[in-house]
Amino acid sequence: MPDSKQFRKDAHRILDVICDYYEHIETYPVKSQVKPGDILSQLPAEAPQSREDLENIIKDFQTILFPGITHWQSPNFFAYFPANSSFPSLLAEMLTAAIGAQCMKWETSPAAAELEERMMDWLKKMLGLPENWYGVIQDSASSATLVALITAREKYSRYQINRSGYSGTENFRIYASTETHSSIEKGVKIAGLGRENLIKVDTDEGYCMDPDLLRIAIENDINDGKKPICVVATLGTTGSTAIDPLEPIAHICKQYDIWLHVDAAFAGSALILPEYRTMIKGIDFVDSFVFNPHKWLFTNFDCSAYFVKEKESLLKSLAILPEYLRTRTQGLVNDYCDWSVPLGRRFRALKLWFVIRSFGIKGLQEKLRTHIAIAQELEKKIGEHPDFVLAAPRTLNLLCFRWQPAGKLNQEELNNHNEQLLNTINETGKIYLTHTKLKGWYTIRMLIGQTYVEKRHVDSAWQLILETAGEYGKKTGTGTLDS
Ligand code: PLP
Repeated sequence: MPDSKQFRKDAHRILDVICDYYEHIETYPVKSQVKPGDILSQLPAEAPQSREDLENIIKDFQTILFPGITHWQSPNFFAYFPANSSFPSLLAEMLTAAIGAQCMKWETSPAAAELEERMMDWLKKMLGLPENWYGVIQDSASSATLVALITAREKYSRYQINRSGYSGTENFRIYASTETHSSIEKGVKIAGLGRENLIKVDTDEGYCMDPDLLRIAIENDINDGKKPICVVATLGTTGSTAIDPLEPIAHICKQYDIWLHVDAAFAGSALILPEYRTMIKGIDFVDSFVFNPHKWLFTNFDCSAYFVKEKESLLKSLAILPEYLRTRTQGLVNDYCDWSVPLGRRFRALKLWFVIRSFGIKGLQEKLRTHIAIAQELEKKIGEHPDFVLAAPRTLNLLCFRWQPAGKLNQEELNNHNEQLLNTINETGKIYLTHTKLKGWYTIRMLIGQTYVEKRHVDSAWQLILETAGEYGKKTGTGTLDS
């Protein structure tokens, strides 16, 4: 076991590895190019009996593991939604690991609990959320949504399901749009509510939930003797960052006394920009809300901010107190283990503290506005190009588009070509894009929100897309494109 003198030396060595990594990050293939099993086959089947030298471990990290890393912190990463790090966040993560505290109860680290309370208050104000809400950090939006569903389930069963399980006569129904994230269905399944009781409401041409159809679905269910308990509205759908119309949805929920949960996993960060607060019109009627600073607020994964209006319903649904967790401060402080599914908790508030203080609200706003402005510029280029079409309206910094040379091909053919084009682009290793399907159309998604992305990266990416499409068109005889 190395002593602290040796650790200091080793830590400096690792810091050099980290800095070298960031200085050279643009030279690595963004999407890992390895085949299944490539890494596993290089790892010894047995653990070593004797201690190994750090230099050997670093060497294997660089030669064996590194090719199998997809570089989420590369400015050429345009895939999915980002999982952004930043240097202040990274520094805080080092300290968190050094302290190694398990922050389940206030007493197991009072500073962690109280910093978490303060950070949630900061975020609430930064995003313009209601003052009377309570916040807690969850590991993921999926967990936060599960917690919301369980709280709604318990509230409307008068806490009977926690006590005696389902009676079989509940007939509970949950509603979300057809574009909702898969974590909603997962949460519904885990909460025992039954996938068939999740009603997917169709969307308008902009992929936003149609509130008229929501109302019809709810009224039909009530007439059939069902009990609507929860609506999940999405601000920033995964497919196209569509923003469900919160205000009319909120009115429906109020009218029928339904828990309204808002999944703003990605787009929630945009609320630090006052000009985007129109998307939370109606927020006072919302019961719970989640967004992920680990997506677009430069805070290392994992860090999900969950807010709830009725703290009592949440605690009544989740709190549990075995003797070994009893403390003298019980009820006087926030014991956050009672606010989420896992008992154990990392000191996640520290990285938020570092990030918010190091960037400042203005610094964070500037970064988001830059990403949106770059996306806006590319949107114009795509819209003007004869061989590309925008597949969905841009709401923030996600561009959804497809290659569609001069109207010759049907949907199935275009879908195949776009899929092959995307694979070819990703195989260059220069950038990484992902896809979705929107109303049956294979759609390329390009998210401009990585911590280190600049206009020059996006310009080069667009050039690469044009060149690759041009070559692909020539090779397959499908395109008229001349890049
Ligand atoms: N909700 C939306 C809209 C998402 O886009 C995602 C992930 O991208 C999630 C929920 C799930 O987030 P997490 O990975 O934090 O569970």
